[in-house]
Amino acid sequence: MSAESHPAAKYKRVLLKISGEALMGDQGYGLHPPTVERIAQEVKSVRDLGVEICMVIGGGNIFRGLAGSAQGMERTTADYMGMLATVMNALAMQSALEGMGVFTRVISAIRMDEVAEPYIRRRAVRHLEKKRVCIFAAGTGNPYFTTDTAATLRANEMACEAIFKGTKVDGVYDKDPVKFDDAKRYDTVSYDEVLQKNLGVMDASAIALARDNNKPIIVFSLDEPGGFRGILAGEGTYTLVQG
Ligand code: UDP
Repeated sequence: MSAESHPAAKYKRVLLKISGEALMGDQGYGLHPPTVERIAQEVKSVRDLGVEICMVIGGGNIFRGLAGSAQGMERTTADYMGMLATVMNALAMQSALEGMGVFTRVISAIRMDEVAEPYIRRRAVRHLEKKRVCIFAAGTGNPYFTTDTAATLRANEMACEAIFKGTKVDGVYDKDPVKFDDAKRYDTVSYDEVLQKNLGVMDASAIALARDNNKPIIVFSLDEPGGFRGILAGEGTYTLVQG
């Protein structure tokens, strides 16, 4: 199927959010380069359709602020460490994508000019228009937030049509599908239901920010090869979170 006739053509610009843990493979910690490559390939396949792509990658495979503060670290310092972890993941993804010939920019919410571009909204928009994948690093740049909130924030700022949240399971369930055989997957679910039932799609501030700006969230499995491209074409299983 040609890129033009592919149904994904209805999406012009999307944001893909993945957790840091998605990059660690079966290792339990850190980065697993073959896994990073695999996800980069998924991103490339969608970029090849002409879709403009923003990415936000978490840092939980390296460091989480809450875990640090639970062990006695000062919370804001621990959160900055978490934000720095996301920069490492962003650089790993950049390296994998560029190795496949996909042009990218890592754009950091915390200035580190030797490593990544600073976040300047209009400049980021220009990169997208030039079909560069923009990998937004360092979260929102503020402690007490998560990269889910950063993803929603950037999706709003970049006028993405939807947030694609790649996870280990193929959508949002009423209970943990790994633990419960009778867990049911929602085809669609409202932001308010996600919040009321604490369905664990994203943290509450991210969901509220998506709701207040009417930004759909599509939860799908990243483990399914070709899954991201398929979901963009309306295939496969996923959950749509909307108003
Ligand atoms: N973080 C933060 N502000 C942000 C985004 C992230 O302080 O805007 C810190 C926070 O400590 C968090 C860590 O970075 O625990 C890693 O991000 P996150 O937990 O969202 O990663 P994920 O769970 O998606 O891998």
